[in-house]
Amino acid sequence: MSQPAEFLSPVDLPWYRPVGHECEVFEHCFRNELPLMLRGPTGAGKSRFVEHMAARLGRPLVTVAAHDDTSATDLCGRWVIQGGETRWQDGPVTRAVRQGAILYIDEIAEARSDVIVVLHPLGDHRRRLFVERHDEELEAAEGFMLVVSWNPGYQRSLRELKPSTRQRFVGLTFGYPAAAVEEEILIGETGAAKKVAKRLVALAAKIRAVDHLGLAEHPSTRLLVSTALLIGSGLAPRLACRVGIVEPLTDDPEVAEALTDLCNLVFD
Ligand code: ADP
Repeated sequence: MSQPAEFLSPVDLPWYRPVGHECEVFEHCFRNELPLMLRGPTGAGKSRFVEHMAARLGRPLVTVAAHDDTSATDLCGRWVIQGGETRWQDGPVTRAVRQGAILYIDEIAEARSDVIVVLHPLGDHRRRLFVERHDEELEAAEGFMLVVSWNPGYQRSLRELKPSTRQRFVGLTFGYPAAAVEEEILIGETGAAKKVAKRLVALAAKIRAVDHLGLAEHPSTRLLVSTALLIGSGLAPRLACRVGIVEPLTDDPEVAEALTDLCNLVFD
């Protein structure tokens, strides 16, 4: 079992700046053995939040990035041949259930239906995992908690999370933080000068406010963090914005031009 939070030095505790009541909600879910769903755009701090809370609660963290190729077998485990012998190898979900870990399934809406079927009895009062291939039924060890994330904007035209799945979770929405908070995140995360953090957040607000560019996603806090790092290590701010913000957001030369104009307005 990992160290409880009071024994963790700040170095071991992944830094996270709360933006609302999310830490409190997480703790209550943990205490009541309730599964939690985090909803929000990519780069909004969901994974960092889970890393922070797992460390704070002294639980190991097992993370799985779900995609449409992920099968229940990948998650639960498989028989492998090693040195001429066949032996069972736990998958990440089985490991998390045995260890009483926090199991974080990122991008749950990408997961196939056989994966969802495995997660249902784990997420509700049963807290059980059926490992079909190993003919085993496990009860989650104390401390186990299921956390999932999804990004509704990104999945809109692809897959939705079924209401029957959603209703099994307590929900928290992650958006873009208020300007002052996002500045604090940039400064805390990268050591950026206040002036730089302010400008980057102002730039993000401008880009997030324009609809007509047809961006699939708006600039996330993650993009601002990497741009702040580039500026901090001496890259010219306009170039840092171009490669750190504009390029990751669009392939369209005209949209890139419009975004670059916005960057140049802020970093004159
Ligand atoms: P997501 O899981 O939502 O895609 P991440 O947790 O990976 O996003 O966040 C991306 C980066 O943004 C983090 O590595 C961190 O640098 C920064 N970040 C975003 N929100 C916060 C926050 N509230 N506190 C600290 N860092 C944050």
